Amino acid sequence: MKDASPQTIYLKDYTPFGYVVEGVELTFALAPEATRVKSRIRFAPNPDATDRTFFLHGEDLTLISAAIDGTPVTPTLTEQGLTCEVPDAPFTWEAEVEIAPAKNTALEGLYMSNGMYCTQCEAEGFRKITYYPDRPDVMATFDVRIESDLPVMLSNGNPGTQDGGVAEWHDPWPKPSYLFALVAGDLEARSDSFTTRSGRHVDLNLWVRPGDLGKTAWGMEALRTSMRWDEEVYGREYDLDVFNIVAVDDFNMGAMENKGLNIFNSSAVLASQDTSTDANFERIEAIIAHEYFHNWTGNRITCRDWFQLCLKEGLTVFRDSQFTADQRSAPVKRIGDVIDLRARQFPEDQGPLSHPVRPESFQEINNFYTATVYEKGAEVIGMLKRLVGDEAYDKAVALYFERHDGQACTIEDWLQVFEDTTGRDLSQFKRWYTQSGTPRLSVEESYEGARYTLTFRQRTPATPGQSEKLPQVLPVAVGLLSPGGEEVLPTQLLEVTEPEQSFTFDNMPDRPIPSLLRGFSAPVVLERESDAAEQAFLLAHDTDPYCRWEAGRGLARGSLVASVVDGADPDGAWLDALQAVVTDPALDPAYRALMMGLPTQSELAQALYEKGITPDPDAIRDAVEATVRATADRWADDLPGLSEEARVAEPYAPDAQQSGKRALGTRVLSLVSRLDGGSAAEAQFEAADNMTLKLAALGNLVRLERADDALAAFEAQWKDDRLVMDKWFGIQIMSAPAPVAVERAEALTGHAAFDWTNPNRFRAVMGALVSNHAGFHRADGAGYDFLAGWLARLDEKNPQTAARMATAFQTWRRYDDDRQAKMRAALESLRDKPKLSRDMGEMVARLLG
Ligand code: ZN
Repeated sequence: MKDASPQTIYLKDYTPFGYVVEGVELTFALAPEATRVKSRIRFAPNPDATDRTFFLHGEDLTLISAAIDGTPVTPTLTEQGLTCEVPDAPFTWEAEVEIAPAKNTALEGLYMSNGMYCTQCEAEGFRKITYYPDRPDVMATFDVRIESDLPVMLSNGNPGTQDGGVAEWHDPWPKPSYLFALVAGDLEARSDSFTTRSGRHVDLNLWVRPGDLGKTAWGMEALRTSMRWDEEVYGREYDLDVFNIVAVDDFNMGAMENKGLNIFNSSAVLASQDTSTDANFERIEAIIAHEYFHNWTGNRITCRDWFQLCLKEGLTVFRDSQFTADQRSAPVKRIGDVIDLRARQFPEDQGPLSHPVRPESFQEINNFYTATVYEKGAEVIGMLKRLVGDEAYDKAVALYFERHDGQACTIEDWLQVFEDTTGRDLSQFKRWYTQSGTPRLSVEESYEGARYTLTFRQRTPATPGQSEKLPQVLPVAVGLLSPGGEEVLPTQLLEVTEPEQSFTFDNMPDRPIPSLLRGFSAPVVLERESDAAEQAFLLAHDTDPYCRWEAGRGLARGSLVASVVDGADPDGAWLDALQAVVTDPALDPAYRALMMGLPTQSELAQALYEKGITPDPDAIRDAVEATVRATADRWADDLPGLSEEARVAEPYAPDAQQSGKRALGTRVLSLVSRLDGGSAAEAQFEAADNMTLKLAALGNLVRLERADDALAAFEAQWKDDRLVMDKWFGIQIMSAPAPVAVERAEALTGHAAFDWTNPNRFRAVMGALVSNHAGFHRADGAGYDFLAGWLARLDEKNPQTAARMATAFQTWRRYDDDRQAKMRAALESLRDKPKLSRDMGEMVARLLG
């Protein structure tokens, strides 16, 4: 690892590479400490480039030999790569390098996980495998030969010769180096097949370590469903003879869309009734779909440079959310996405890490795989679709595939196909890509002589590097209800484009009640001083599932804020109105479960902060606990009936219907355990035949401090299952009473199974502490020091995962002076650490502002 020598890269400096690559041949002789990689690359001058500097990226490589057209050359080597004199005509570059996968703890490039070789090349990992123009706009075909005595050896594309000790793979589709992949190990596969719409037979394999085959059925089914869906909805077919998925235990992210060889964090693909929760199943289905969909949005059409990351990620997240909405419940998926956006993207956009969906500069691209690029990026696609309509969206996307197949593209290319198909001018809309921050939208209304007027005002607070904001295009879906609860105006899409803009509605015999931002039609903060009576009305009558849910959420927020600020009792009117919804048997149990959810403590801290009140984490926790208790008391008579409704009689299936019931049951159990001291939870823990019910029960027992036996039994049963043990580690911290959460986490880091170099295990502990809001923000700063200490340690091994986890500090300016000082000190201790990685160096500098 290098010392940080921060170099900032700018979007505006883009220039094409001086050469095109006509073909790549790679030979790997695998060995843990000394893998040899031979490359043979055909280069030709790029007619579209002016700069002919021959620079190849390369990091942590030992160069053994290099030759051009067969003649040995001596390139000039630097920390970042090499330069060399080359002919002014097509030529063949050959090199041999040595690397040490067993020593690669950063999990980028070629590394080892439990004796298995695997690669991770996005974004800039291929340069740790061999010298190459490691940038996404250089696309080439790859032929790969792997030599080792391992039984399974995989790479991208279609298989060639597979003989004892040698495996060859040919990928006919030109691709950037970040999509290269290689896997070798003692693996077993669940195999299946798929026939594409046009008759191509595709072999499907899901490769796992011996012992894990029992957890592959769900992933395989999700893959087949995704393949069919992309044909039916987007007209996209698969384009190789084989599609391989591999599960690996050590992985920095969720999964990776390498061409024809997707590599998955085992937590994002392996599932079984006994070991996985319903939420795990749903997430796995979505990630399988996501990676598969990248084959067109990302692989066939890729990014010109890493500033365009949202081109593939925003679009692919949007596509996978459409898929989940189709497989399950569209309203439930939409509300889940809003919850997630507010929990992860809003804090990012409202704090020191705020950046545009398409950033303009970075030091370390790994730091920009963010909720803003992914989730806000997906929201931007959703808005575009809403604005142009479904039909025009389909046409524009079809044109995108037709026009840009095989290219490395930009956001401009993407917007152009929409302009060309609709004739719309999208220059103002483009600000969604260039302007950071969450727009605030306020609303006023007036009613005079049957004319109802809505006046919107938009403004976006300043964000780092952007003090002046321009008005954006806000698609605001609106419906109007009569005082009797009838919908007098079905959903209409208003386009707010001005700083202030009014819309009138005539012939309104009564003053209507507005239902605003239906379906969460734009990722904004709606600032509306609506009173509790209006929210209760919408909670009872709104026909839009999102707005109805949001009305309840607004009431919950109001009640909780009042409890925090002046110790007020929970709002009884809210709880009664909510009770009517929650006990309505006509409503989907999953939706009722969402209705029962409270805003997170972190979200409440943000709400208080925005009202100019310094959030006190302990007071917030007490208010939430008091509210849950009050709810349990008030609804006590309904709880047995609700538990009964939530019971699933059929054999376990992770589908939307069953998991909706279990979600409702889980909410109910949490209330019941406030009344019975935990006996129902204990009984459920004993009886559960699936991980969803087991873990829900265990969480309650941990919170009640009566989980010792259950935790011991759980550990004894699952000690050899890494994914289940991640849950065991996490829940003890996440659900612990706040005052002891840090000590719990500390003790668990001393557990023999705390392998902190495994990203899943590290996150299970650290992430769980951060999610225990009052525990992490304990007044003495113990949580901050604990996390910062571990981040410093992990940074030496795995900068990417360490830097990502450091985002836990992004909200530090919300809190009181004392906590701020302690968080600042923790961040400064990281900043001043010798040999800080580039990832962490940039992250901490941005956090400190
Ligand atoms: Zn992706």
